[in-house]
Amino acid sequence: MLSPQVSLRVLFLASEADPFIKVGGLGDVAGSLPRAIHGIKSAQGEYPWKSIDVRLVIPYHGQISRAKYGLRLVSAFDIAHKNGPLPVEAYDSVVSGLPVYFISGPPILPEAPLYTGDPDTDGSKYTFFSLAALELARSLGWQPHLLHANDWHTAPAIYALSTLLSGDPFYAKTARLLTVHNLPYLGAGTGPALAAFGLPPASDSPLPGWAQDLPLPLGLLTADRIVAVSPTYAREILTPEFGSGLYKFLATRKDAISGILNGIDVDRWNPASDPHLAINFTPENLAARGANKHHLQTEFDLEPEPNQMLFAMINRMDHQKGVDLALEALRMLATGSSATRDPASQKWQAIILGTGMAELEEAAHGMQVEFPGRVRAALRFDGALSSRIYAGADCLLIPSRYEPCGLTQMIAMRYGCVPVARATGGLRDTITDEDQNHNNNGFLFEEAAPEALEACMQRALRAFIDKEKWSKLQYNGMSQDFSWDRSARQYLDLYRTMVLSKQQDII
Ligand code: ADP
Repeated sequence: MLSPQVSLRVLFLASEADPFIKVGGLGDVAGSLPRAIHGIKSAQGEYPWKSIDVRLVIPYHGQISRAKYGLRLVSAFDIAHKNGPLPVEAYDSVVSGLPVYFISGPPILPEAPLYTGDPDTDGSKYTFFSLAALELARSLGWQPHLLHANDWHTAPAIYALSTLLSGDPFYAKTARLLTVHNLPYLGAGTGPALAAFGLPPASDSPLPGWAQDLPLPLGLLTADRIVAVSPTYAREILTPEFGSGLYKFLATRKDAISGILNGIDVDRWNPASDPHLAINFTPENLAARGANKHHLQTEFDLEPEPNQMLFAMINRMDHQKGVDLALEALRMLATGSSATRDPASQKWQAIILGTGMAELEEAAHGMQVEFPGRVRAALRFDGALSSRIYAGADCLLIPSRYEPCGLTQMIAMRYGCVPVARATGGLRDTITDEDQNHNNNGFLFEEAAPEALEACMQRALRAFIDKEKWSKLQYNGMSQDFSWDRSARQYLDLYRTMVLSKQQDII
């Protein structure tokens, strides 16, 4: 039973976590959220537990430095596989007071990238990891009140509690939470890997036949609660357009689904202290921001003209992100081929930072060649440059086809860079359009089409002429609370509901 004498024990699993290893937004979340939860000091009597003992477990990917994080071997055991037992070695470290564990073993190949795209390799790696993380808790004699898994990679741990470990008293009362960061990544083709570790397909279930052996659907089937990373995305995944073929099944789980927005690391992303900027600034000292724009224009060999709107894009070069829509909209603006031609539209420049699909990188490079005076493309991953762009550009273009939460719009707003974004997922939940009320902080458009984006950019260009109006937009964005503390408290409220409804008698 939980009581004010007992700590809430949360086993938090993810495939990547900043600062150890990060490939995308999931790494940001898994790096920040457990630390934020760990750091919450509850008021007297606020929660029915003494403190929160959250422990993060990630694979010991080869890119993680043992020396840098002082990893120590803490446990060794075997995981059953149809070809014979596989040895596990678990290491630990502590970061900002948070215990972190690292799982190693034969399927976690030291030289392989985190995600190879090969379903056998990735399926074995993450099923092994998920099951080993559960066994690690047992080997430590640390019985979790709640298991919190993230995306398809760790969904097998949720499913294992209903199948492989269903009669196991150690996990009989453990509540199961699955956060969905990106629904379309279901773990396609990994069914045989799951079966080889003793996780059978869910043949008699409401899942469609093609999904009955896939890890994310199996996690969605057996989790007590499901969190999508924004309230809008929680609704969108119930529709044919965003439901990845699972919307009818997800309707059967509607009552278990809710949305909690991610936060950003407000210490890393702080224009007042970011070491990558030419000049640091605050919402109260916005005029200083102009020097960053000047430096950025000079760095990219653009005319250092403060009154020219500087658009930017920072993202993976992927269909999801609507890079093609942005390039087409920029072309429409540049050639004056829009229906709503406006003199203001002549005054702009654009910087594109991104890497990913070759055809999109080539198209971005092509724009630079076609419009040398105003478009620049940096086709690489560069965190320091991203800081300089957030701090120097006027508008960030985010025309995503879908966006479960999105971090770039929150970072941009914190740096006074106004988002021009498609009204989907977390973008809809964090951006308030200029037409709606006086706390507006950006521009939204509905249809995933270049014409709609271009019209929205025209609106931004018109607003940009009115300096007072523009400063208010920037100030509103910069004043918002995007910290993890807000999200962490929402997760804690959900943890409380879940744990209490299990009527746990683990102490
Ligand atoms: P996703 O996780 O879908 O890629 P998010 O908006 O959630 O998108 O997070 C993207 C993160 O990656 C942000 O921190 C953004 O600044 C960063 N990022 C994306 N592309 C680049 C790049 N080319 N260089 C530096 N940072 C990048």
